[in-house]
Amino acid sequence: MTNPLKQGSTIGILGGGQLGRMLAIAASKLGFKTHIYEPGKNPPASQVANKVTTAAYEDTNALIMFANEVDVITFEFENIPETALNTLETTREVLPARNALATSQDRITEKKFLEKLGLKVAPYANINTQTDLLSALATVGAPSIMKTRRFGYDGKGQVRLKEVDDGYTAWEELGKTPCVLEGLIDFRKEVSVIGARNQSGEVVCFDPGENIHKNGILHTTNVPADITSSQRMDAVLLTGKILNALDYVGVMGIELFVTAEELLINEIAPRVHNSGHWTQNGCVIDQFEQHIRAISGWHLGDGKRHSNVLMTNLIGAEVLEVDTLSKDTSIGIHLYGKEIVKPGRKMGHINKILANN
Ligand code: AMP
Repeated sequence: MTNPLKQGSTIGILGGGQLGRMLAIAASKLGFKTHIYEPGKNPPASQVANKVTTAAYEDTNALIMFANEVDVITFEFENIPETALNTLETTREVLPARNALATSQDRITEKKFLEKLGLKVAPYANINTQTDLLSALATVGAPSIMKTRRFGYDGKGQVRLKEVDDGYTAWEELGKTPCVLEGLIDFRKEVSVIGARNQSGEVVCFDPGENIHKNGILHTTNVPADITSSQRMDAVLLTGKILNALDYVGVMGIELFVTAEELLINEIAPRVHNSGHWTQNGCVIDQFEQHIRAISGWHLGDGKRHSNVLMTNLIGAEVLEVDTLSKDTSIGIHLYGKEIVKPGRKMGHINKILANN
């Protein structure tokens, strides 16, 4: 293991949204300082960080100055422009490393990587040209989902096809950019595993959580997931396999479809994950602290769950119910300090403790 970061060292975080904010809080708890790099003004993380750089990812000088002022760099989102990474990496280590970002930024690269590990994904076909589109429609068919290869999040950048005839309109709607056509999986459940790996290869996974989405956005995560013990074991083992294959350092979220027969991987996210927020009230060491420990050269904490938890995102005006929610003494409230309430905007989340184990 590389030497653990000294107390008082500064962790640079790319992205100042709620994930960056919760990472900064965790870092502060462990005695570290944080410096946020974010193009938008007054991001949620700026309220809890020691320093903020407000600059674009194309601003080479700002990136170099930022990299010089921090001891290690991490990020809260995976779509960091490659040129920015090139610049940052000449000065400071970025963790998780480049290979994990490159794998997860592109849906086709990600699926090929997972298949090479012997893991299962939904049937898919690559679409770059109109000829590809026709052959994808012939092999994958419908019902299916067309997704842009890059830059999709929270259900954005994807269109559902009821029939093969919807194919061309769907591709047009997505701007005729490179896409993947995925067969629609008739899943029983969606679950996710949050796993962590540190610099000496220790791996710790949190218990799988069961996710419900509304309008393409995560609504709730319920832990423990209602799956069999062998499915739970398989989900955790495949997470370890992915982390080891990437020689990964940090926390990763892995989304899975549970069908009657098998576990299929929907996607991997090389960062702390919304479906891991339950760990803040369900475990002694949560996903944010685990990530900071991993990238700082520390040992990982125990991932054991001490409580059953239902995490619910507060989207848009739901955040205005906080007064009522606070009357329930078994609810942990986590707000992101966003001033403007907008429909569909993640404003906070709550963790309701259902039972202690
Ligand atoms: P994604 O952005 O790929 O995570 O997709 C967002 C949500 O759409 C997932 O959480 C699923 O609920 C649904 N979804 C995505 N891909 C598929 C698929 N191949 N089959 C069925 N549902 C899917």
